[in-house]
Amino acid sequence: MTLRFYGGPETLAEDLKAETERLESVFSVTRPDSDFARLNADGRIAPAPETRDLAEKALALARETDGALNIALYPLVKEWGFTTGQYQIPEPDRIRELLPLTDWHRITLSDSSLAIDPGMALDPGSLAKGYTADVLTARLKEAGVTCALLDLGGNIQAIGTRPDGTPWQVGIRDPEGEGHLGILSAADTAVVTSGGYERYFTGPDGQVYWHILDPLTGAPARSGLLSVTVVGPAGWRADGLSTALFVMGADKALTHWRETGGYELVLVTEDHEVIVTEGLADRFTLSEPDTYTLKVWKHD
Ligand code: ADP
Ligand code: MG
Repeated sequence: MTLRFYGGPETLAEDLKAETERLESVFSVTRPDSDFARLNADGRIAPAPETRDLAEKALALARETDGALNIALYPLVKEWGFTTGQYQIPEPDRIRELLPLTDWHRITLSDSSLAIDPGMALDPGSLAKGYTADVLTARLKEAGVTCALLDLGGNIQAIGTRPDGTPWQVGIRDPEGEGHLGILSAADTAVVTSGGYERYFTGPDGQVYWHILDPLTGAPARSGLLSVTVVGPAGWRADGLSTALFVMGADKALTHWRETGGYELVLVTEDHEVIVTEGLADRFTLSEPDTYTLKVWKHD
């Protein structure tokens, strides 16, 4: 995690670090005393305000994306070993057994309680970093900071511009290479990428298996996309949408963008196309034109 900002009180860096650690201790499924770990162990908790808020947002996105974003996938995420790094390809029978335990409609949220059915488990990893970036952004703004760039493990949040008034320059990772395939000019926005390249393993069959799962099959999502970058005002939404649109694939992502709006996209396809939506056309520069072809999507 890298937080770069200009101005603000002396203690601000320490405060932001402490706030990030506090949120991690509430959200992280692998910390035994976090809200989500206790929920997964006990089936019901009295959620912290942030947990309630995050769960509500996750459920809204699940409805909006027809379950492509599903924080109830955790039993399968664990089975594949993406939590521990002890990767394995589960037997088809095992996947069929676990799929009924991933129904997000079975999550019950009220003012004072968050509950799941026996056998279910939640993992907010697909939007918690974006949510955290939103909290840090609010803190920075309260402290009077007008120029900042936050990088929470690939989740970028640009606050204002660079101190000289020019936009921040954000590299979009090349999903198949080491460097970046393009540069985006960004000001006052979140830029969040989800990609297969972030966490994956190669099976004994030589196939690559990555950490974003298709809730319909319980297996890594293969939609023809290598990465999805969402550019939009709210970090949690950009984070959740980047995961969901990766599952949905280019055509459905385009439809969602046209019908919903409020954000822009950079999609990288297996066919080496880089598709950017209209609003980014003059803010995105392709740096690898020999490997990738740039295409612009319009609203109509
Ligand atoms: P990263 O954490 O690498 O930035 P994402 O934001 O895309 O990536 O979140 C992926 C994580 O979310 C996975 O590691 C897994 O824990 C969980 N996950 C996998 N598939 C889904 C899905 N379809 N919906 C919600 N969460 C998912
Ligand atoms: Mg995400």
